[in-house]
Amino acid sequence: MERNKGKNRKSIILITTLILLIIILSYFTINCYSEYKNNLSQNKDITSKIQVLKDENANILKEKEEYINEENYLNSLDEEISNLKKEVFKLARKLEDKILNNETNYKIAYITFDDGPYHSTDDVLDILDEYKVKATFFTIGLDKDICYDNKNYSCAETYKKEADRGHTIANHTYTHAIFRGLYNSTTSFITDVKKQEALIEERTGIKTNIVRFPGGSSTAGNLKNSITNELRNMGYGWIDWTAGDGDGGYVPNTTVAWNNLTSQINENIEVILFHDYSRATISILPKAIEYLEDKNYIILPLFYESIKVNK
Ligand SMILES: [Zn+2]
Repeated sequence: MERNKGKNRKSIILITTLILLIIILSYFTINCYSEYKNNLSQNKDITSKIQVLKDENANILKEKEEYINEENYLNSLDEEISNLKKEVFKLARKLEDKILNNETNYKIAYITFDDGPYHSTDDVLDILDEYKVKATFFTIGLDKDICYDNKNYSCAETYKKEADRGHTIANHTYTHAIFRGLYNSTTSFITDVKKQEALIEERTGIKTNIVRFPGGSSTAGNLKNSITNELRNMGYGWIDWTAGDGDGGYVPNTTVAWNNLTSQINENIEVILFHDYSRATISILPKAIEYLEDKNYIILPLFYESIKVNK
């Protein structure tokens, strides 16, 4: 009996141990399986996330390629335009010679606008576009972030508009401070020119090489020779004007502006001074373009090589 009892106990212990073992094994198996399942779904998540990133990357690469293509195209256009301009200026230089030698009936008018940009420059640009005429803008830099003639607008972008629409952008010094230090010394003048040069380059990407003295070159007085020497060393030409409508001074109405202008147009190559802030000038500008073209003037933007640009 005792032996049987002992046998039974052993069997119970064995069975209990086996059951326990099975329970433990099952526990581990279930746990492992669920962990495996978890890992599998996480893996799927990661794989799909990787796919999304791959797609995004492919899109970015495609966009980058398109952007590079577009940039190359625009650069080639810029180059083409700049080459065409060079050709036009070469022909214009030849035309100047023919005019001076009386070998042609054509004449040239260089229309120039000083002291801008202003808010009203947009109107000037529109009129020039309408008449397919290119002009020259002698720009300054001080106080142009807010347009002087309309404080609700910024004139900062106007430099680029002028350049992009095919006009010559030129230097009229940064401050235009005729009575506040500009003409104190050659250095003060040249510093101001360089400051405007940097601003124009920053806003348009163009390095200008024509300057107009605020008030005209005679305003420099005794400094004129020293300043023009320095400008020459810097690769600049400088220019005054031969005609205008008086809009830099007091012009009471458009009739006076018109009479001023037409009484001064008499040379075969004219450099016409306007200011793009002048409402009188903007009013007579369409008529002035028609008047000049009727008188056989070809209206051109200024260029460094022109005989009118002093070097
Ligand atoms: Zn001026």
